[in-house]
Formats: sequence, structure tokens, C-alpha cells
Amino acid sequence: MAEQRRARPEEAAAWRDLTATARRTVTDGLVVGTSGNVSVRVGEVVLVTPTGVPYDRLGPDDITGVDLDGHQVLGTLKPTSELPMHLTVYRATDAGAVVHTHSVHATAVSTLVPELPPVHYMTGALGGPVRVAPYATYGTEQLAEHIRTALEGRTACLIQNHGTLAYAPTLERAFNDSAQLEWMARLWLLASSVPGRTPSLLTPDQVREAGDKLSRYGQRATP
Ligand code: 13P
Ligand code: ZN
Repeated sequence: MAEQRRARPEEAAAWRDLTATARRTVTDGLVVGTSGNVSVRVGEVVLVTPTGVPYDRLGPDDITGVDLDGHQVLGTLKPTSELPMHLTVYRATDAGAVVHTHSVHATAVSTLVPELPPVHYMTGALGGPVRVAPYATYGTEQLAEHIRTALEGRTACLIQNHGTLAYAPTLERAFNDSAQLEWMARLWLLASSVPGRTPSLLTPDQVREAGDKLSRYGQRATP
């Protein structure tokens, strides 16, 4: 791969945030080793984690960026093998960042049901009950297409026998939604494993109402 152009200041800053987020996926237990991948959009450039490189080794010179057609425009490291999945999400949605994990409880749920039952109101933060995208080989256009379909009206999905994907306007939000999704999957596994009992589920109206309120949750951007 030939040397690419130098990163602009906003791209260098976004790369710092991306590598910090990728490290958090490991330290917070959402992935093991070099599993999973993270991307962030800066204008027409998508910065992505390079394939198979431990996140704690990534420095400023390792910046890796592609355009929306997947042509490399920054760096010389080979981009994540899941480029089709990330680019499909940017093309189909207004995503600013995408986080893909192999978090263990969410992946376990992906092998059991076609949709994570709405056991908690945080379901509303992800647009409704989180669907499972059917299995396809990692890194393929077919998997990207399954994910695009599973994401309709949602900002996250499970990926059968594989993991999770969440997108959001920012890296922080996409990471947080990935962690919340893992937590909800653990909650459902725990509640549904009590012999002779079945967890209560929220109605579509309850999920919608929580989602609407959550869109205004937290501190206001300006006081
Ligand atoms: P990469 O190291 O190529 O990003 O692959 C990890 C992964 O999770 C594939 O699904
Ligand atoms: Zn993966």
C-alpha cells in the first residue's frame, strides 16, 4: 500500500478518540484480543481500526481511513475485515460512529432467539426490541446486508453466532449503547434462567414512551 496523504487535525483528533474507544471495548470486557472493530466518520472519510492489531499498540501514526467506497485514503495498515459492515451502516443511516463487539452475553442471546425480548426500558434507547441479524461469514457483503436489514428502525442489532453492532452520532454514544446492549442481554439470560418462571416483558407502548423520554435524558448541551 502506497503512502497516503497526511491526516488533517480533525482526523487526528478523531483517531485519538477512536483508539481510546477501541481500548475500552477490551478493558470493559466487550471483546477479547483483536476481536471487534470501531469506526468514526469525519466528513467523507471513515476512520477504522486496522485488522488484527491489538488496540493498545495503536498510536497516532497508525491512522487508517477509507472513503465511503472503501478506497484507502489514510495510512498503510490494512483496514478491519468488517469494512463492508461499517460502510453499509454509514451509507444506510446518519451514523457518526459504529462499534462492533463480540460481547459474551449478547452473543449467547444471538444463538437462542431471533430478537432480544424487551425486558428493560433501555430497549427504547435502541429504537425497540433488538433483532438478530442471521449468520453469514465475517467480513462479507452478505453479513453487511443482513445487518442493514436488522437495523431498520433500530440503532443496534445482535449478529447470530458472532456479536453485536451499534451506531450513534458519536463514538461515546455508540460505545455506551454497546455496553447497555450487553447488560440487557445478561439481564434477560439471568431472568429467563429461573426454573418455572418467565420474565415479564414491556409492551410496545412502554418501550416507545421510554425511548421518547430517553431522547431527552441527561444534562442539556447548553445550560
Ligand atoms: P478485524 O480484526 O479484521 O477487525 O476483525 C475482528 C472481527 O470482529 C471480525 O468480525
Ligand atoms: Zn466480529
